[in-house]
Amino acid sequence: MTTQSTTLLIIGGGPGGYVAAIRAGQLGIPTMLVEAEELGGTCLNIGCIPSKALIHAADAFHQAASYSGESALGIRAGAPSIDVNKTVGWKDGIVKRLTGGVGTLLKKNKVKVVRGWATILDGKTVEVRQTAQGDNDGEPVRIRCEHLLLATGSQPVELPFLPFGGAVVSSTEALSPASVPEHLVVVGAGYIGLELGTAYRKLGARVSVVEAAGRVLPAYDDELVKPVAASLERLGIELHLESSVLGPAADGQGVRMKNAGGEEVTLAADRVLVAVGRRPRTEGFGLESLLLDMNGRAVRIDNQCRTSMRNVWAIGDLTGEPMLAHRAMAQGEMVAEIIAGKRRHFMPAAMPAVCFTDPEVVVVGLSPQEAVRQGLDCLSASFPFAANGRAMTLEATDGFVRVVARKDNHVIVGWQAVGAAVSELSAAFSQSIEMGAQLEDIGGTIHAHPTLGEAVQEAALRALGHALHI
Ligand code: FAD
Repeated sequence: MTTQSTTLLIIGGGPGGYVAAIRAGQLGIPTMLVEAEELGGTCLNIGCIPSKALIHAADAFHQAASYSGESALGIRAGAPSIDVNKTVGWKDGIVKRLTGGVGTLLKKNKVKVVRGWATILDGKTVEVRQTAQGDNDGEPVRIRCEHLLLATGSQPVELPFLPFGGAVVSSTEALSPASVPEHLVVVGAGYIGLELGTAYRKLGARVSVVEAAGRVLPAYDDELVKPVAASLERLGIELHLESSVLGPAADGQGVRMKNAGGEEVTLAADRVLVAVGRRPRTEGFGLESLLLDMNGRAVRIDNQCRTSMRNVWAIGDLTGEPMLAHRAMAQGEMVAEIIAGKRRHFMPAAMPAVCFTDPEVVVVGLSPQEAVRQGLDCLSASFPFAANGRAMTLEATDGFVRVVARKDNHVIVGWQAVGAAVSELSAAFSQSIEMGAQLEDIGGTIHAHPTLGEAVQEAALRALGHALHI
């Protein structure tokens, strides 16, 4: 077995690991990155990007189908059809372009990529069983390092009474369907379940969602979720709230569940998507041998992403919630800079989170309720898209933008929005909070007309008591 050495060794080539590697390379740190599957991790291969591609294709199909009936726009067209294999091929093409791009960036920054499964021997030594496409054609290699960065990500939670396999799938399989099922049951009404459930409905499947909580997107506040729930209803998605899945149906076609009334019923279905959450990937690579301090199932880190062992770092989904690609990337970039000697801490004022549902939801910073819980005296105001000209021209008047600001100095501490394409407002929201903007800054900034962004300015003006268009 050959032994190699490096300054920084990264396990996992997802958004956390690959960004850390690129930044380390830019800073001249000798870096190796081990990846067992494809570069880009969950995000590029089986998460953010493929899900948004599928959602876009489903939206386009749904839009086309809407023109086969009466359309307010006066457009009339024949009923569309879809070749799902081609759709999946298009999505795979995007994934390939992006993962290929990551490979090129790593190479350009002189990061050595080792393809294979890493097993930790100690805090400075890792053994990699290389896959055939690795440099040494399957030979195991031992790598010694000064700094070990763990970025092994997460995996879908499996329900023991409804294991993955056959018609029971996780988001991974749901993103590469060979066909559109007749009836899809989605277990879990979090953002992944709703994003994919909505896409399948728009592709023509009948969709039922089973959720233990009393409403969809239980992590978000009531007002924000209302337009999403209304749209699910309009789309004809069946919601089974306060219901819990008990196991597969007796004939294997669907699920048995206990409904809100306590009755046991069977939902017949030809596919079941289990989307009940993700858990940090902590098993199968010798992590336990390091005896790191844990935070539940996640690796415990401080605000520099240091673990309890010197020079062993952890980032991304492995470190728990919020499991978001942009958090992993920001942490990865920071760790590389700390190793290069820069003074950095991970203390973002704003961490945006987006649900690409229909309509979209974006939250950044504190909601009014969270502000109260933190003992802040805040004011909040919202501006509805129903009063926004651009939203009318897009047939997208559902939803609103809401701002939360401190009463004493008007410093903005939170933004929430629900509506078409509001994901694109997340940049403005995060920037204003990160830069310590006050309501007056946003209210006094000229926002282009006609744009959805005018609702951002109007929400700030409304909080100041002088909205112009409502
Ligand atoms: P990962 O991306 O999980 O990467 C970890 C990598 O490590 C993997 O490639 C794995 O193969 C590799 N690995 C693990 N163990 C080893 C080992 N021992 N040896 C070698 N390699 C190993 N986030 C958002 O911010 N926005 C979204 O819109 C969004 N949508 C999502 C949609 C879906 C369907 C899913 C499933 C997730 C979504 N996420 C989204 C979450 C996002 O994908 C993750 O937060 C992000 O990928 C985490 O990055 P990471 O680098 O921590 O880990």
